[in-house]
Amino acid sequence: MTIARFWRETPQRYNLGGAKCTVCQTVYFPPRSVCPSCAQHRQSLGRLEPFHLSGEGEVVTFSVVHDAAEGFEMQVPYVLAIVRTKEGPQLTGQVVDVDPSEVKIGLRVRATFRKLREEGKAGVIHYGYKFTPADEWDGRPDGRSTPAPVASEVQSAPVGGSASA
Ligand SMILES: [Zn+2]
Repeated sequence: MTIARFWRETPQRYNLGGAKCTVCQTVYFPPRSVCPSCAQHRQSLGRLEPFHLSGEGEVVTFSVVHDAAEGFEMQVPYVLAIVRTKEGPQLTGQVVDVDPSEVKIGLRVRATFRKLREEGKAGVIHYGYKFTPADEWDGRPDGRSTPAPVASEVQSAPVGGSASA
């Protein structure tokens, strides 16, 4: 994946920005422009609004990965899970901060934003969501507590808000 494409996708990766159909209230992630749940698809055209998922959900199914894909070698074994969010959409992601043997179907988790992988020696670091066990959902619509990635680690990314001006 090119850097440019990655950064275009970043708003979704960081905010779990999806879309909600204002006709039938179905939530989609990633966002879409037509709602397949509406009886008449055309009815939903232009009726989907940006919607941010809470990041809270339950493990629907998972597997423990021992043979990592390129770029993930340092992380094996890791748990890759499908999580059904409270709002409905299912997300695929790693479950971290837990022993793989403790992950089970129905485990409550919350999305946090972590380093996903490092690309080659150039050190381009990709961030995205991962899941951590959540004893309780906090119920807030945007209950993330994880701080944004440290800008200095994102070597190839434009870093806004510097004081150099
Ligand atoms: Zn709809």
